[in-house]
Amino acid sequence: MNESHMTSSATLDLSLQLLRQPSVTPVDHDCQNIMAERLKKVGFNIENMRFEDVDNIWARKGTEGPVFCFAGHTDVVPTGNLDAWNSDPFLPEIRDGKLYGRGSADMKTALAAMVVATERFVEKYPDHKGSIAYLITSDEEGPSINGTVKVIQALEARNEKITWCLVGEPSSTNKLGDIVKNGRRGSLNANLTVKGKQGHVAYPHLAVNPIHTASKAIAELCETVWDNGNEYFPATSFQISNINAGTGATNVVPGTMNLLCNWRYSTEVTADELKARTLEVLDRHGVEYDIQWTLSGLPFLTPVGELVNAAKDAIRDVTGTETELSTSGGTSDGRFIAPTGAQVLELGVLNATIHQINEHVDIADLEPLAEIYEKILINLLAN
Ligand SMILES: [Zn+2]
Repeated sequence: MNESHMTSSATLDLSLQLLRQPSVTPVDHDCQNIMAERLKKVGFNIENMRFEDVDNIWARKGTEGPVFCFAGHTDVVPTGNLDAWNSDPFLPEIRDGKLYGRGSADMKTALAAMVVATERFVEKYPDHKGSIAYLITSDEEGPSINGTVKVIQALEARNEKITWCLVGEPSSTNKLGDIVKNGRRGSLNANLTVKGKQGHVAYPHLAVNPIHTASKAIAELCETVWDNGNEYFPATSFQISNINAGTGATNVVPGTMNLLCNWRYSTEVTADELKARTLEVLDRHGVEYDIQWTLSGLPFLTPVGELVNAAKDAIRDVTGTETELSTSGGTSDGRFIAPTGAQVLELGVLNATIHQINEHVDIADLEPLAEIYEKILINLLAN
């Protein structure tokens, strides 16, 4: 690709337009309108679905199944210290073949690539099969309460189904398309308060030390093999992220101890099983406690099938890379879409700088990403 091509392409132009919007979560700042205007011109029907302070759009071209949906978010994480950026995070800048700006990797260039791919596909295949849809939110980086989850509820309520969903999250690790995410681990949190009785260290028979009573149970939880994972998932992991007890004095037995812990779990166990096994360990060691659970994401998995194959073939055609399937990393909005029965894949640019100061992407990856997205559409919906 020559230099002039690299600094002007349809995908780069739309990326620049989106990157100029300071859409710090949950603010969309017109990004969705910019996308919607383009999609309207190629036959999409746009539904704005605002919930509370969050803008979302559901766009669809066609009424028939199967439904191929691009999903993503226009919101970005805060910039952090502006002085540490080499250029304004919302005035995208090109330096040495790289495009700098907040959201350049996560995930406005992917949104631009989706739109450009769709325009090109619709032009070549005006009578394509099924439908193409977009589920775009501005609440992925925030609490994720009024975004994708609410749109999915609205779609489910009217029995509107997604067959294949491609989430444009930055999945690539070393080069474009080397990794696609075909699932995510579940995430379960516990807030555990171990109860004791405060007292003087010199009179331990008058106190109950929660650190001592819980220590064997904690050791057992840390050593527990929750499962061995499977073909797609690593073994479930348990981590204590916070542990607090004590008054700061050396001569006081504390009255309580608090722990925050998290399980990243595979499809080999359920959240209910993890809870039951944890309580059994605490009870067997005679620990007195209160525990609050929050489930921040169910695990999901899209096994090899139509969508995975369409993506693998497209990546191989465009980049020559044999892609690898992975379920690692944090959660994404795919967790809300997969439970409807949709096949869900995440495929986007490199994730090396996401959420960082001086977030950037290689400009040379933008057009190939649009080509990959277009080839996936061709593989699934061309007539
Ligand atoms: Zn993202």
